[in-house]
This record gives sequence, C-alpha cells and structure tokens, in this order.
Amino acid sequence: MKQFQISYTDNDMLCQKLDEIDQWCSTHSAYTKIFRIYSEDMDFNHIRQICDVLDKKMPDALYLGCTTNANILDGALANAKVLLTCTVFEYETTKAQILQFPFLEQTVKEDVEKLRACCLENPWISAIEMHATIMDMSMKEFCDEMTTLPKNIQVFGGGAFNPNMDDDTAAVFSKGNGLLEHGIIFLLLGGEDFHTYSTFISGWKPLKRRFRVTKANRELLYELDGKPAFEIYQKFLNINKNDKFFSNTLEFPLFVEHDDVDILRCPLAVNDDDSLVMSSDMQEDTIVRLAYGDPDTILTSIKRDGQKIADFQPEVIQTFSCAARRAFWGDENISDETLPFFSVAPTTGFYTHGEFLRMKGDMLNFNVTLVLAAMREGEPKNEKPVNIYDSQLDNIDKIPIIRRFVSFIEASTAELEEINMKLAMTSITDGLTRLYNRSEIERRIHSALDKRESKSTGNNISLIMLDIDNFKKVNDIFGHKEGDHVIQGLANVLRNETIGVHSCFLGRWGGEEFMVLLSDSDADYAVVLAEKIRTAFAALTYEIATPQTVSIGVTQAKDGEDADTIYNRVDKALYTAKANGKNQVVRMD
Ligand code: GH3
Ligand code: MG
Ligand code: MG
Repeated sequence: MKQFQISYTDNDMLCQKLDEIDQWCSTHSAYTKIFRIYSEDMDFNHIRQICDVLDKKMPDALYLGCTTNANILDGALANAKVLLTCTVFEYETTKAQILQFPFLEQTVKEDVEKLRACCLENPWISAIEMHATIMDMSMKEFCDEMTTLPKNIQVFGGGAFNPNMDDDTAAVFSKGNGLLEHGIIFLLLGGEDFHTYSTFISGWKPLKRRFRVTKANRELLYELDGKPAFEIYQKFLNINKNDKFFSNTLEFPLFVEHDDVDILRCPLAVNDDDSLVMSSDMQEDTIVRLAYGDPDTILTSIKRDGQKIADFQPEVIQTFSCAARRAFWGDENISDETLPFFSVAPTTGFYTHGEFLRMKGDMLNFNVTLVLAAMREGEPKNEKPVNIYDSQLDNIDKIPIIRRFVSFIEASTAELEEINMKLAMTSITDGLTRLYNRSEIERRIHSALDKRESKSTGNNISLIMLDIDNFKKVNDIFGHKEGDHVIQGLANVLRNETIGVHSCFLGRWGGEEFMVLLSDSDADYAVVLAEKIRTAFAALTYEIATPQTVSIGVTQAKDGEDADTIYNRVDKALYTAKANGKNQVVRMD
C-alpha cells in the first residue's frame, strides 16, 4: 500500500501530481487506486471541478470525500483548504467498492439493509470507511441498524463538517454518485492480504461522581438526577451562561456509560430552561460522569493507547478527529496529538462532526474523540514496531498538579459517597433487626399501591402482619436483652423463609410487630408463606428463653383500596388470631 498526498492549489498542479502517481504506478505493482478528498472549501463547484479532473485524468481510480472543519496532513493540521490522498494497493487481492446513499432518518433502515446485503454478497469485505452528513440527525437508529452487519466487519469514519462550526452546511461526494448535502458514503475494503486495525482515543478522564439522565430527548439534555442539567456546570464548575459556555464546557464534557465503553458528549449550548444542547443524542436512564481534559493527560493517553497502532505496523493511518478537539487545543497545539502517528506511517484525515467506530459489533457515535484506522497490505515489514510511547512519561514524580487535585477530589468523593450510603441505609432500616423501619415499609406499601393504580393490569398485593405472643412475659422472665434476641430470631426467620420470594419486603412495624409486603402475590400464597414462618419461628431455640410463638394476620389488597383500609383489615385478622388462641394464621378478605 502506497500513499500519495496532494495539497491542492489548482487543477494544473493536480494534473501534474496525477501524472507523477501514474508514473509511480507504471514502475511498481499497482492495482486499485482510491482518492480521498477532504475539502474545507465549501464552494461545491470547486469540488465538482476536482472530481471532473479525476474522472478524466484517472478514470480507473475510485474517489470519495466530504467537506470538513479542517484537514490533517502528515499528522498535522493541514494548511491546504483541499487535501487529496491517493492510496495505491500493491496487492491484486485487495478490493474496494463505493456505495453512496442519500442520508435521511426515514431511509436509514433500508440503506443499511442494502449495505448489509452487499456485505453478505461480498464476503471479502472486512472494513468499511464511512463519511456522512449527520447534522440535525439522530444517529440512534443508524447505529442500531449497523449492528446487523456481519460481526467481522470493522467500521470507522466521520461526519462531514464545515470550517465554520456554527454552519450546518456539509456534503459528501464520490465517483459516479455526485455530491449530496444529505448523504452517506461507504468505502468497502478487504481482500486476503488487506488488514485493518481501528481504535479510538479520547484522553479525557472521567471523574467518579455519577449522574443519571432523568430527562432527555434526542440531543436535548433536560435533567440529571431530576435537576436541570445546566446545574452540573453551574454548581460544580462555576460555568455560566455566556458566550464562553462552549469553550469552558469543552474542558469538562460528559462521559456516557455505554456497556464497557465511555463515550464523550459535549454541551454545545445552554437554553433558557437550563437544558443543554448536546453534541449527539442522549438516552434517558443512562449514567453520565463529568470528564476533564488536561493537555498532559491527553497526550500521555494518546501515546500509550496509540502504541497499539504502531504495533500493528500500518502503511497508512486514517484519522477522524473531532472538530471540538481542534477548538480545545487551538490551531497552534492541535497537531501535538496527531504527530506521534506520523512517525509510524502517512497520517491523514479530517476534523469531523462526530466520529464513528464499530466495537464488538456495536456501532458507536463518538464526540470529542480521535478515531484511528490503521491499514496494511501483507504482513508487518519490520521486526520491531516504532516506539511512540515512552513509559518514562508515567514517572510518578512528574505528575502535574491538576492530576494531584483530581486525585484529591476523587478520594474525597469516594469517602463522602460511602458515608452517604451508610446514612441512606441507616435512615431506612431498623437497628435491632436490620429490616426496613416502619416509615420505609409504609413507603413501599404506598408505592406498590400507586404503581398498581397506574398500570392497567392490576397485580396482586398482599400483606402479612405478625405479633409475637405473650412477649411481655419473655421480657419479664428472661430479661429485656433476651427479649431482643427473640425479636432478632423472628427477623432471621422472616429473612430465611422469604429467600427467593418475588417482590417481597420485610419491615419492623413496632416493638415485636412485623409487616411483610408481597407486591406480586395473592393471599393464597401469602397464607402458605405465613404458615411456614409461624412453624419455623415456633421451632426456634434460644440460649436462655424457651421457644416462642407468633400470631399472624393475612390479607390481600382489593382494587382501589387505600393503605389505611388494608392496614385495618390485616390488623383485624391478627387480632382474630390472638382472640382465637394465638400461634395461628388468620386470613381476612
Ligand atoms: P400478645 O400476645 O397479646 O401480643 O401479648 P404481648 O405480651 O406480646 O403484648 P404486647 O404486644 O402489648 O407487648 C409488647 C411488648 O413488647 C411490650 C414492650 O415492653 C415489649 N417491647 C417492645 N419493643 C421491644 C424491644 O425492642 N425489645 C424488647 N425486649 N421488648 C420490647
Ligand atoms: Mg404487640
Ligand atoms: Mg405481642
């Protein structure tokens, strides 16, 4: 695989460069030629002229391209507004094919279906490079559909963009398919001697504190932990609503947990209602964490994780880097993070509006991330790969102050979370028995009744109420402490006898009284369970006290009944059990 790069200035120089490529091909084993065209020039006529030159001068070459935020040449931010790369395959076995579709949410399903059919018909396909216009589109369905492609196929690519980040105009184009402002191109690659390794690196690190997305719709993030999403930036980071919002939050985007991959999402703007406009879709009920970007940490991650690219010994490295990274680093420094790869192989690509990478079959849509695709024909040529990672960088003495602060914050957060967990447990449990306390079991009974009310299919809710018989005597004869042991004995019986019982909650109602909530069982089942509890408790022995008994009331909630009515009935059932001679279960409907 040989790669040529052309910093385009005009068509004459392009023709001259094409002649040079032709000449090289005539003296080498050269087969398929693929041009990638990255254009910061938004004049579509200029792009069409370049395509015309390629069509005429090199009719056998494939080409594809898109508009970009900026381009990457020789591992650095390119000066040229239009960058062309030409990859020449040196193995006859390496194949390539281009598919281009209009890209609209309505047609995503059928387009991916066509792509899938093509992959099934052509088992040589092992990698797909994609360029797509993705502005104003939800990528959820597209990503979901892409998981149906054969598992072995790697997919990587980026969203077409505009040099002006506030401008939504973008385009993709390819040989024989023209230019589309809403389009997607798949470059299908493969062959027995063609190898790809694709990966992603962000370098941003997550802080431990987790927040749940409680309200979101497409790219609008309304609430985290039930509070306006903007609060996370205002309260924790003192970031305000002003024109610096994007550049400030860029240092602290959000990590979204997606299986075992953390995906970055960037707040682009804040609305009057304190909702955030995010760089891509947000899903309700996912967990997010604040991430921090610190130049030293990012560069270290890039080199450490990027070593895998070097180990692969590629002949070409395709980069899809987020335009937000360029905004973060600034044009003076942005090349620092891509230059290490240039020591490995020709490194070209562009600054995108969203990056794509398929991992373990899942298609992931990243932001603020660097997606890299390393390509090679044949086996690695060198005995040792280039070293881009110097483990000395991990030298503990050189840790920058920001990482010390992060370490302090993380340790403090962990300590507070542990205390919070303990406090939360203490506030809902009873100290003697470790069952739920009265207010918590009552809360759960109310919540079970409310849930049933809101659902059309009413499930059965039953209560079991228990009171130890003649307990005053236990205290009188064996002492209060032994009385406590008897109470704990009944709590243990309740725990043991309800292991594996579906939707079952145990509470201490008061002194030696207990309540069992079965939020998905009828009274028939509750009576059987109550009988087991009664027998097991009667068989319990103590160090000092003699075996004791318990009286039990059982009832099932009727449709529309409130908690007090049900408490009254179960209490009556228990009273009847006492009145009938204790040590028995009485059911009342
Ligand atoms: P009955 O069979 O009618 O239930 O008779 P009883 O003696 O159990 O009567 P009652 O339910 O009125 O008695 C409850 C007793 O439980 C009174 C109180 O001193 C005792 N008690 C309440 N909480 C505790 C506790 O935490 N530990 C101990 N040891 N005793 C408690
Ligand atoms: Mg009592
Ligand atoms: Mg009692």
